[in-house]
Amino acid sequence: MFHPEVMGTGTLHIDLNALVENWQTLDRQSATHTGAVVKADGYGLGAGRVSKALAQAGVRSFFVATAEEATALRATLGPDPVIYVFSGHMEGDTQVLFDLGAVPLLNSPEQIARHEARLPEHPFGLQLDTGMNRLGIEASDWSPEMSQEASLVMSHLACADEPDHAANKAQLKTFLEMTAGILAPRSLAATGGILLGPEYHFDLTRPGVGLYGGLPFEDAQSVVTLDLPVIQTRTVQKGEAVGYAHAFIADSPRQIATVSGGYADGLIRAMSSTAQLYAGDIPCPLVGRVSMDLITVDVTHLDTVPEHLSILGPHQSVDQLADAAGTIGYEILTSLGHRYKRSYS
Ligand SMILES: *Cc1c(COP(=O)(O)O)cnc(C)c1O
Repeated sequence: MFHPEVMGTGTLHIDLNALVENWQTLDRQSATHTGAVVKADGYGLGAGRVSKALAQAGVRSFFVATAEEATALRATLGPDPVIYVFSGHMEGDTQVLFDLGAVPLLNSPEQIARHEARLPEHPFGLQLDTGMNRLGIEASDWSPEMSQEASLVMSHLACADEPDHAANKAQLKTFLEMTAGILAPRSLAATGGILLGPEYHFDLTRPGVGLYGGLPFEDAQSVVTLDLPVIQTRTVQKGEAVGYAHAFIADSPRQIATVSGGYADGLIRAMSSTAQLYAGDIPCPLVGRVSMDLITVDVTHLDTVPEHLSILGPHQSVDQLADAAGTIGYEILTSLGHRYKRSYS
C-alpha cells in the first residue's frame, strides 16, 4: 500500500478483517469459548485497535502479560470484557488490578497470599506449572481446594507447535490430574494447543500468534503488510562495495536501492544478506548489512524501480521473513518498530 503523505518511513498495514477471520476460524475449531491474547501491544500491531476489532467480533476474554498492559486495554474495551494478567499479582500491582477490575493469574503461594491479604474480594485465576517450568504453581505446592474461588485455572504448553512432541500429552495428563474434580473453568490451549484437538480445549482457549497470521496456524490469513520507501537508487560498478563493513561487493554492475527501514524498526541484523523484498511479485535480495535506519536491495533485474518495496505481505509472511533471519514469526511481529505509520482497514 502506497501512502504518498509518508514518504520517509515505512507503512505497516494491518488488516483487521483478516485478524477477526483468523479468530473466527480458530473459534470454530473448538466447542468452547475462545479468548484473545493481546500482550506486547497486540503482538506489535497495536493492542487498542486489535482488541476493539476482536471485542466487536464477540471476544469476551483478553489476556495480557502485565498489569500495566491492562491499563490501556481497559480504556479501549470499557468495563465488560474480562482482562486476565499472566504475571499475576505482583508487588505494586494491587491498585491497578483493583482500579481496572483486571483478573490476575496467580503463579505461586506468595502471590496467592498477597492477593488474599490485599484484595480478598477481588476475582483471581490460577496458573499451574505442568512441566514447562516457567510460570505457575508447582504440583508440590498445589491442592485443588485452592481453586474454590478461582474464576479460571490455566496452564501453558511448552511444545504445542510440535504436535508429536511427547511433552504435549505429558502436560495434558498432569493438567488433568492437578485439576481433577475442580469446579473452576479450565484453560490449557494457546494457538498450538487449539490445533492439537478437542482434549486440549477445556473451557477457554487463548490464541495469540494465530490471530496475527503466524505459525503454527498454517491456515491463517495474512494480517500484516509492510512497505518500505525507496530513498535512492544507484549503479554500483563491478568490484565496488556497499554499506557497513563493505559486506557486499558487486561481481558485476548492479542497481542498488537504498530503502528506509533498519534494525531500529525491527528489521533485525540477522536479515543481512539473506532476506528478500518484493517489487510486486518479483523478489529482490537484500544485500550487505542491515543498518539502523536503512537497508540496501539489489534491483538490477527490475525494469523500473518502484517507489516502495514490500518486506511483509502476500509474497512473504512473518514466518518466511523470520526463517530468513533465523528466528520465529513472534519475534518479527513484536519487534515491528514505532516509526512505521500504522494504517488499519
Ligand atoms: C503468549 C501466551 C499465549 C498465546 O500464545 P500463542 O502461541 O501466541 O497463541 C497463551 N498463553 C500464555 C500463558 C502465553 O504466555
